[in-house]
Amino acid sequence: MRVKVLGSAAGGGFPQWNCGCSNCSGLRAGTLRGSQRTQTQVALSADPYSWFLLNASPDLRHQTLSSRDFVAPNTGRGTPIAGIVLTSADVDSVMGLLHLREFQPLRILATPSVLRILKEDNSIFRVLDRSIPPTEWVPLPLYKTIPMRGCDAQGVQTNLTCRAMTVGGDFPDYVTPSLRKDLSQNEAVVALEISHRDKSLFYAPSIPELTIACKPSIESSNVALLDGTFWTDCELIHVIGSGKRAREIGHLPLSGEGGLLDQLRNVDRARRVLIHINNTNPVLDEESLANRSARDAGFEISYDGMEFEL
Ligand SMILES: [Zn+2]
Repeated sequence: MRVKVLGSAAGGGFPQWNCGCSNCSGLRAGTLRGSQRTQTQVALSADPYSWFLLNASPDLRHQTLSSRDFVAPNTGRGTPIAGIVLTSADVDSVMGLLHLREFQPLRILATPSVLRILKEDNSIFRVLDRSIPPTEWVPLPLYKTIPMRGCDAQGVQTNLTCRAMTVGGDFPDYVTPSLRKDLSQNEAVVALEISHRDKSLFYAPSIPELTIACKPSIESSNVALLDGTFWTDCELIHVIGSGKRAREIGHLPLSGEGGLLDQLRNVDRARRVLIHINNTNPVLDEESLANRSARDAGFEISYDGMEFEL
């Protein structure tokens, strides 16, 4: 299984267009040691023909055009993108679906509640149903291993499987109150365990809480791409003077007692790699104490273009 990190930043990317925090302004001025990052996007493949996207980033068009792996055929229409698996209905996770609207048949997997948000609450996603055949919206069950089939032209059987597990959290603010009361809370945000033969990837760009099911799945994985959004719980409030605490917006902070690094410090089989890193996070400064603390705790910090062969 090949895994590619096409984007590694949280919403807004790094630097963020309207942000003057020390990270963003330092990167613009060339005084911060670090690299630009687009908004989080991961793609994986277990054969030479097809790719699955994990979520659909607002930067998806640029990210796929920048890679030779996603080029269209020389004649007619088509794409190596066989399917998309969504971990939430967050704008960061679903906005890129609109970049895939050019009458392309797609297969999109998401929890039943996330599918309802996209199909019943946001009519703009109906543009995806204009393809022939129309987009397949496939319910992703919790705690059940399912085969990952695509609608790729070659009809390749990928032998990839996917298992979703809840990580707590809430639905995005934009969901209408009338729909929200009908949704299942444990379907708001999920982590994915994607397996191919005896290898597995754990994917959780948002971790509101490390639920009981997550830890063994992280421990048994080869690579775990984990929520690296915020270093501290009050980061937004300290850095930009306003905003909510990390835990209030569905992200366990990395540092401190009970933080992600603390909870996973004894997991050493899996490569633990931070992704979905917010532009305010000090780990983005490669000379910072936070960056060194994360690496000393055994964590890697993902970057655009990082790849894994599992
Ligand atoms: Zn910033």
